[in-house]
Amino acid sequence: MKAIIFGAPGAGKGTYSTRMQNQLGVDVIAMGDIFRESVKQNTELGKKVKSYVEKGALVPDEVVLEVLKDRLKKVPKGKGFLLDGFPRTIAQAESLQSIAKIDVILMLDVPDQIIIERLTSRRLCKSCGAVYNIRFLKPKVEGKCDKCGGELYQRSDDNEAVIRNRLQVYKTQTEPLVEYYRKKNTPFIVNVTKSVDQPPEPMVEHMMAELKKMGLA
Ligand code: ADP
Ligand code: ZN
Repeated sequence: MKAIIFGAPGAGKGTYSTRMQNQLGVDVIAMGDIFRESVKQNTELGKKVKSYVEKGALVPDEVVLEVLKDRLKKVPKGKGFLLDGFPRTIAQAESLQSIAKIDVILMLDVPDQIIIERLTSRRLCKSCGAVYNIRFLKPKVEGKCDKCGGELYQRSDDNEAVIRNRLQVYKTQTEPLVEYYRKKNTPFIVNVTKSVDQPPEPMVEHMMAELKKMGLA
């Protein structure tokens, strides 16, 4: 399966894809995670992308594409992948087209108000990147990751000003991709979030069931 999980920042791409990863037996490629890790390690890539990530601006397409190609080379032969945070522009989608044919788009449709509420209370594990929310998806022990015991932290771009910028960038640069893939007749599995405290599991089950119907899981 070659798939894209698509939606605004805070729509739950990371939350759902990590939950589906094992069930699907695919590699999840999360662009934001790759960039944050490179910034943390202060690598050459990290130096290039830091200022963009901090402002919530898009990293230039050529840089992103290079990273994607390198990461795709590491996907074992015959294994599928799920892209989280790529493509984010039409140009990125065009480039992707010459690399792989996408089977399905997992679309997360979440109202802005819910996104802002979620992102301002989101926390991540420093060690494994697992996503929590101190209001809506609490860890069992405060401040600690359920999976690995790692310390939870708040992303520097999860503050209201940067969130608004990320949403703006999403609307102008990324949302047109819906039209783009509709025109290409790529199948969509649409998930609509209606309340801020909706647990992820039913949606994961819905997506798994739809993927099975399509012969992709
Ligand atoms: P979000 O919660 O906003 O979806 P991500 O973790 O996916 O966050 O991405 C964090 C940041 O990394 C983005 O705001 C952007 O600066 C950069 N980034 C991630 N993916 C891409 C991409 N495909 N193209 C350009 N920039 C990207
Ligand atoms: Zn962890």
